[in-house]
Amino acid sequence: MNKIKKKIIRYQNRQLHKFGGSSLSDVKCYKRVANIIEKCSKPGDLIVVSAAGITTNQLINWLKFSKINHNLASKFQESIRSYQENLIIKLLSKKKANLLKLFFLSDFTHLIKLLNKPIDNCVYSEIVGHGEIWSARLMSAILEEFGISSQWLDARLFLRAEYSSHPKIDEIASRQLLEKYLQKYYNKRLVITGFIAKNKKGQTVLLGRNGSDYSATQIGALTGVNKITIWSDVVGIYSADPHKVKDAYLLPLLSFDEAKELARLAAQVLHSRTLQPISSTNIDLQFRCSYDPDKGSTKIARTVESNKDIKIITSNDNVCLIEIILFKHQNFLKVYKKINLFLKKNQIFPLAERVNLKNKLIQLCYTKEVAHGIMYELSKIAIIKKNISLRDCFSLVAIVGTGICKNSLYKNCFYQHLRNQPVEFFWHSKKDISLVAVLSTNKTLYLVRELHKSLFLLKKYFKLTLLNKSKINFFYLIRTKYFLYI
Ligand code: ASP
Ligand code: MG
Repeated sequence: MNKIKKKIIRYQNRQLHKFGGSSLSDVKCYKRVANIIEKCSKPGDLIVVSAAGITTNQLINWLKFSKINHNLASKFQESIRSYQENLIIKLLSKKKANLLKLFFLSDFTHLIKLLNKPIDNCVYSEIVGHGEIWSARLMSAILEEFGISSQWLDARLFLRAEYSSHPKIDEIASRQLLEKYLQKYYNKRLVITGFIAKNKKGQTVLLGRNGSDYSATQIGALTGVNKITIWSDVVGIYSADPHKVKDAYLLPLLSFDEAKELARLAAQVLHSRTLQPISSTNIDLQFRCSYDPDKGSTKIARTVESNKDIKIITSNDNVCLIEIILFKHQNFLKVYKKINLFLKKNQIFPLAERVNLKNKLIQLCYTKEVAHGIMYELSKIAIIKKNISLRDCFSLVAIVGTGICKNSLYKNCFYQHLRNQPVEFFWHSKKDISLVAVLSTNKTLYLVRELHKSLFLLKKYFKLTLLNKSKINFFYLIRTKYFLYI
């Protein structure tokens, strides 16, 4: 009885730590992460890793140039090989390093052979997903050398998903397969590859760029961990992308719905599906920085009141519009309903949309990464086959906060800033949690900085005013400072 009980307790207290590519970009980074694992985890905990540094980009370039420029392709091949070998040599003892180098070279030869084949989905995913294999294997070996009992695991052994523009994990099949490994290695740190899964035919399926966060929450949910920490090169989630806006400030707390909306809007910081697997669980989620673990964090809170406050400005300069313009004789509402049903069935909702009844126009906004695939899927609907087209070079700028669409101060400020911009359309979410502008430009850096400056100044005064409960202050703000900034 005791053995089983102990095991169950151990399962219940499990945690999962996920480390992104930026946390594993060089020898120093790997050592730092190994120290974090030693300090913050215990036997039975799960570690999910992305490919080291820019390995995924390098693999994509190698593959791309292998068909068009052999010289360039060899350069990428050489740089991937030397980067991985250097990590292995510098991080492990000679004996262990020799073994891992052998494994790596065997993988690499396999990939070189694959490059001679025509590049289809299967070949592409097999090559591009290999960075995660190398980082999981290496991380586990480092832990072993630290004296921490560990096992690496290729997620394709248990994660099941089929090819699609937004691959979704088959939870039932995956949970069953994973259970075997959890039992087998219940007293080791399991280091698992992010980003990759396998389909029924045994082919590698990629979960989309930055998809390791989704792997992490999905594996966490399948295992029933009670806490997931996503470690990266930034402290947590900020009021804007801190790489773009230097005054952006850290949000120590963000509501689950706000984080979900941020992910849905294709923000760099969160993969679109990250929150989905844990939405109906009690799993705690937090974001921390592997470079400076004590600098702070962002915790995702399950309950937060709707205070119509602004939390985040987000943008994406790589979006496309799928346009459907109907002929006069076509029944607009009927077609629109059909499209919606199709999107729902395939779980491929747009980031924002515009419906113009008068011009019989529907515009659906998607990231460039998935737009072509979705366009292909949509053109299978016979009645819109001849009405559909794709427009490139758009961007999206949005403000996010619970009830934000009901706050006319922020809304007006947002509209004012966009009045001289090439706005294609505005959109707001049904739950009033985000206000979005789709623009026919892909340069929004300056706009985002200006918006951040004005909106967060407004927020500061808004809060002060509420604190002082003084209407005079508030009107003073409207007449003076506020208008200076819009
Ligand atoms: N390595 C993959 C990528 O760069 C997945 C990830 O980083 O989450 O997109
Ligand atoms: Mg990455």
